[in-house]
Parts: sequence; C-alpha cells; structure tokens
Amino acid sequence: MKLKHTVNFIKKHTVAIFVKVEKEEPKVCTFNEEYIKLFNSLVKDKYYTPSTPFAFGFASNTRVIFITYREMKNYMYETWKNAGASLIKIMKDLHIDDIEVDMAELFAEIASEESYIQFCLGMILSSYSFDNYLGDKRLKEKTVIKNILLVSGDKKDTENAIAKANQIANCIFWARDMVNEPSNVINSLTFVDRAKKQAESRKITTTVLTEKELKAANMNGLLGVNAGSKNPPRLFIAQYKKARAKKHILLVGKGITFDTGGMSLKPADSMLGMKDDMAGAAAVCGALFLISDMNLDANVTVLCPLTDNKTGSAAINPGDVLKMCNGVTVEVVNTDAEGRLILADALAYGIKKFNPDFAIDIATLTGACSIALGRNATGLMSNDEVLTKALVDAGNDTYERVWELPMFDEYKEQIRSDIADIKNTGGRLAGTITAAQFLSCFTEGAKWAHLDIACTSISESDNKYLSKGATGVGVYLLAKTVEKLVDVQKV
Ligand SMILES: [Zn+2]
Repeated sequence: MKLKHTVNFIKKHTVAIFVKVEKEEPKVCTFNEEYIKLFNSLVKDKYYTPSTPFAFGFASNTRVIFITYREMKNYMYETWKNAGASLIKIMKDLHIDDIEVDMAELFAEIASEESYIQFCLGMILSSYSFDNYLGDKRLKEKTVIKNILLVSGDKKDTENAIAKANQIANCIFWARDMVNEPSNVINSLTFVDRAKKQAESRKITTTVLTEKELKAANMNGLLGVNAGSKNPPRLFIAQYKKARAKKHILLVGKGITFDTGGMSLKPADSMLGMKDDMAGAAAVCGALFLISDMNLDANVTVLCPLTDNKTGSAAINPGDVLKMCNGVTVEVVNTDAEGRLILADALAYGIKKFNPDFAIDIATLTGACSIALGRNATGLMSNDEVLTKALVDAGNDTYERVWELPMFDEYKEQIRSDIADIKNTGGRLAGTITAAQFLSCFTEGAKWAHLDIACTSISESDNKYLSKGATGVGVYLLAKTVEKLVDVQKV
C-alpha cells in the first residue's frame, strides 16, 4: 500500500471524507463546496445519519464516501488510529483499491502532530496481511489496497506523519511476520539470522552465545529446556548505543520457537498455535529496531533466549532439578512452565553483565493471565514505581494497555520446593503472579518489570487495525516506554 500526500484532488476514483458522529447536527468540513452540497442532500434524504458507518454519493463523476468516526474519551490517539482503520475496512468491503482522503475535516479536529501520526498508523497497520504461503488463486481473492492519497494544503505535516507512521508500522510488521511464520521456518537459528539482518541494517551490534558459551555461563535453565530438542539453544544479544545516552535499559524477550510442553506434554488442542511462544523475543527485537529508527537517546540491550521445548530422549523430566546461572536451584515440577526457566537465566545474566538502570521482560507466559485479563490488557508486575508509571503511560498512548497485578511477598510461598530453593510452578491460584515471583528470584537489585502477553500477542479475528494472528504487541509499547524512561530524572 502506498500512502502519499497531494495538495489538490485528482478525482480519479473515490474521495473519502470523515464525519465525527458526536456532532448534534451532522456537518461535514471540507474545502470543496460540491462535497458539502452532496453531504447535505444525503442527510436530507436520510441516507446519512450519525449512526451509519458510511454513506456515499456521486459528485462530478467521483464517488464520495462519508465515513463516521467516534471519539473515545481519554484515549485521544486511539480515536485517530480507529478512524484510519475504519477507512481501510470500508475500502476492503467495497473493493476500492485507490482513494483520495479529504483531510480538511480531520485537520479541524486533529490537535497535534501525534494524532496525525496515529491516523496514518491506523491505516497502515490495517493494511497488513500475512500471505507468505497463499497460492495465486487465494491471493487473487484478496482486495489489495494500492494507493491512498491524503489531500491537504499542509505538505510538511502530512509527509512527516506518513514517514513516522511507516517507521512504527514497519517494526510492528517485522514482529507480526516472525510470530505468524510457522515453527518449521522459525527456530533458534533462523530467528537469529532474521534479527541479525535487521540489526546490521541499522548499525545495532549483535552477539550470539552458542551452546559452549551457555554452558560456561551456567545457563542451565535455557540448556535444560533445550535438552529434548534437535535445534541448538541460542542467546541472541543486540545492543543499541548512543554517545549521549542518559539511561541503559535491558529488554528480555521469551523465545520459545515452539512449545510442546515437553514431557509434561500439552493436549493437541492447546499445542496448536504454540508457534507464537516467541512473541516476546519478536517484540523486544522489533522495539529495538524502532528505538533505533526513532533515534532515542538511550542505551538499550536486548536479550532473547531461544529454543523450542520438545520431548527428545534427553529431555528433562518433571521433578528434575536445575542449578540456574545465578546459583539458585529449581525443581522443574512441570516442564510446560519452561518460559520462566529461560527468562530467569537471561535476566540474571543480563542484569549482572550490563547493570542496567531498568530491566523489562516480556513473555507469552501464563494461560492464567488470559483468564484474568483477556485480550484487552497485558499483565504487568514490577518492583519499581517509576518503571510501572512509564509502562502504564506508554500503554495508554499506544493503546497496548497494561494492568498491574500485585507482587505481595506471600505469593512466594507457593513456589517453595521441598528439595530445591524454588519450584517452577505455584499451582493454579494466581498463576500469573507466581510466575513473576519466580522471575523475581533472578532480578535482585534491579528495577524490573515483567509483562505477560499470553493473551495480547494474538488476535482471534480481523479487528480494527489488528489482523487475525499476531498483533505485534510490545514493539510500540516498549519503544514508547524507553522514550519516557529517557526523560525520567531521578533513578
Ligand atoms: Zn510451556
């Protein structure tokens, strides 16, 4: 899809004009008299009412569509993203692949540069579809949107909004693609290849720890989970550095490229879809690329522990004990609670080696988080108020909203083991929190937050600017969080 600016209407095919539904008397704002006349006649003949999603008519042989958009109180940016998304939906429904958008109405309402970016972002994000494995016949059935022209006298602001929205969307699309790819394509090695390629194009430095180095670093959590697999384990490290950086932030993403559950095997129905268990790793990489593209004044280090969780003959068994890289011993009571084992090693390793001002991990970690929060919020657990506030604010700005769960000490009792320091699950009660309590044994001394995206990493349907499949959650959220943390004065 090409999104471009133009000063004058070309009136080639179709023109779109937005109408805000809250207005008592429907009114449309455009600099084109003919379109105002057309709109008023549609209202008079009741073809347009504030409750219709769109209405259209013809003016000078051009089809003109009036599209409603709704304000969402307290979430200004989301209003604009949804307005952009509604345009794409109508284009797809009506099989329109080329359109000119009259920006006069939106300019009368758009309050800031950021709102304009969000409007463009809503359009671009909605145009995503993962078609890598569709044959020609299936591809032909799809409406592919070719051109959107934004008609406006303001060239500079429009081009700026388009460029910035593209920057954000490109990194989100990279993460969506990684998660949507099946596990016979994305494994620990191909993940590293693809992430490295993106990093190198941005002058982000990368290091990869292989089995030998992981053994030397005593990363027995990662090695233990990998024991039943044919694919080797990897720790992917990517670093973005700025000479005038004010903060160093560590981002750790869970990279289980497929989760069978290991010896505590998942039932078939729950196993389908487990290619998405590396959505955290995809999110931190996508966020790092965006942070680099936004040229933020921070040092950011990304760690992705990568492996699949399989049942090969060397696989660990329930009840086995692992000594993790910081010396803590873990009784693995359930091999399907593997994500926290690889995250624990990566967090302990990263905090010790890089001594960051803030550490954040993100993971498709617990089914319990889906039960607690559903698809509309990511679980947040943290030991630091400044970091919590940055994540909550960034969540509201990007509409990748997060919700804080308590980290009371008493929850830790659920993960006491009889034969080791801790065990890797705390039972059904508060499963999301006890997983975070487990991770807290590996983040001592650090200002740290944990994000559980078990339910927000996937959309079950095409919904506004999300397509069915991977959402790319975390990319924009983490980049915005880092942007906010850069300006935090006291640490
Ligand atoms: Zn699992």
